[in-house]
Amino acid sequence: MRSSQELERALALLRQGLTATEVSRATGIPRSTVRDWGYGRGIERPRDLVCPGHDFSSIDGGAYAYLLAVYLGDGFICPRPRGVWQLRNTLDSTYPGIIAECVRAVEAVAPRKAYVLRRRHERAVEVSKYWKHWTCFIPQHGPGRKHTRPIVLADWQTRVVETHVEQFLRGLIHSDGTRMIATERKGSYVRRAPRYAFKTDQRASSGSLPAHVRSRESTARGRARLR
Ligand SMILES: [Zn+2]
Repeated sequence: MRSSQELERALALLRQGLTATEVSRATGIPRSTVRDWGYGRGIERPRDLVCPGHDFSSIDGGAYAYLLAVYLGDGFICPRPRGVWQLRNTLDSTYPGIIAECVRAVEAVAPRKAYVLRRRHERAVEVSKYWKHWTCFIPQHGPGRKHTRPIVLADWQTRVVETHVEQFLRGLIHSDGTRMIATERKGSYVRRAPRYAFKTDQRASSGSLPAHVRSRESTARGRARLR
């Protein structure tokens, strides 16, 4: 059992922006314990928990980029009692592979299991997860609907998206996009190629997404308006 002084010291160092590895070296507390504390796990008094800050550099970047895009497409975060937030992503029940991928991404980012809620007689499935730190990991949460407020990524989010562009685009397409095969004909020449369309309205500021996301997106035909 670690003392409360050790806990406070580790949390203070995490708040200063040190990684779990650096805190472990400085305090002699195992990295896995520091990491658990950073996520609010294994702390004796969870009701008093003030967010200790997070080591975003240790996040599973591919899963996070995918999950962020699914959230931007069709997700929302709502407050629950005792400082808990619920992330809810609505998906089409006719694509079980996409539902499974979303569950994997949620469970890679947040501790413990995600919930899958299927409503009878509806095509929608909701993948949800209760966690105190959703608004730390998805700070785009705010009042009003997403398409009516500016969506600006934090620096650490931009770094993750830049490193995992494919997963980010994959999440956008899975949540709110369409992939179709378009046929072009010029005389006897026939070319078939995939086309992507996003019906999403989210307006990220032009500086918050990496240049290659914008340029790829501008090549996607359809109603792409995510700049
Ligand atoms: Zn937090």
